[in-house]
Amino acid sequence: MATSLVTGGAGFLGSHLCDELLRRGDRVICVDNLETGSLHNIEHIRADEFTFVNCDITEPYFIEEPIDSVYHLASPASPIDYLRLPLQTLKVGSHGTHHTLGLAKEHRARFLLASTSEVYGDPQVHPQTEDYWGHVNPIGPRGVYDEAKRYAEALTMAYHRQQGVDTAIVRIFNTYGPRMRAHDGRAIPTFLRQGLADRQITVYGDGSQTRSFCFVSDLIRGLIALSESGEHQPVNIGNPDEFTLLELAQIVIEVSGSRSEIIHEALPTDDPKQRKPDITRAQELLQWEPKIGLREGLAQTIEESGAEALLGIPS
Ligand code: UDP
Repeated sequence: MATSLVTGGAGFLGSHLCDELLRRGDRVICVDNLETGSLHNIEHIRADEFTFVNCDITEPYFIEEPIDSVYHLASPASPIDYLRLPLQTLKVGSHGTHHTLGLAKEHRARFLLASTSEVYGDPQVHPQTEDYWGHVNPIGPRGVYDEAKRYAEALTMAYHRQQGVDTAIVRIFNTYGPRMRAHDGRAIPTFLRQGLADRQITVYGDGSQTRSFCFVSDLIRGLIALSESGEHQPVNIGNPDEFTLLELAQIVIEVSGSRSEIIHEALPTDDPKQRKPDITRAQELLQWEPKIGLREGLAQTIEESGAEALLGIPS
């Protein structure tokens, strides 16, 4: 039986990854400090093959048993979280990645870094291919996340080149699905919370900025395929169907049967104007592409989450 370690395993993506690895027959060690993750996301897991370790990986940490694969997802990932936790975000991207790479080296494990489309910043190349170097403001409020992930990528490549660690880098584009926190500030959970309560939907700016939204099960499939490949270069994983934020708000109203009206609020500093992955590399290397469209994924999110979770009512 293979053993996988998932940092950030109690988070939105991490907990879905733990579920899927267990379903495939892995033993899973889930590491999380519960800063933005929650035990609620993993409390349904009853398997003997699952262990939760409450630990802050910005300090050195050690696992005694053998490990075959490391999935390094730990980080605040929503803009309101990394704006609230700027130093923790920088530390987990730097020290946390350093410790986790050291652990992978010690165990001779395959290491996968969860990087982000934010390494492209406010991109001047569209759609974004992996060989685009990006357009990031290092001293803006989003810089703590973008630069932490860019540093984590540099560290990962250095461990690969100098230390021979078997590494992979996935650049994750906007992803949504059940277990996103109702108040995590991102567009989809916010619009769903507002739409289901027939409250005003807050579109920032004029809503012409674009994003491309991937359903969580598609994303997890891509992460595992990349980990199981021998690839070392960064690979975009995301859904290339691009929407303006105004279109997203209208689709949420339609799918949730809402009577909400759309209002406009100030656009946050350095908010990227457009974002869409070029997924040619993932298609060719991994034979991966997303299967679930936005309307279907939103309907599935509503059905699986239930209204109370989406409205942020504690269970
Ligand atoms: N956004 C919005 N209303 C909200 C929350 C977000 O219009 O209530 C916009 C935000 O300004 C950005 C887009 O939605 O243009 C996606 O934001 P999100 O926080 O989901 O992720 P990002 O891609 O910016 O990291």
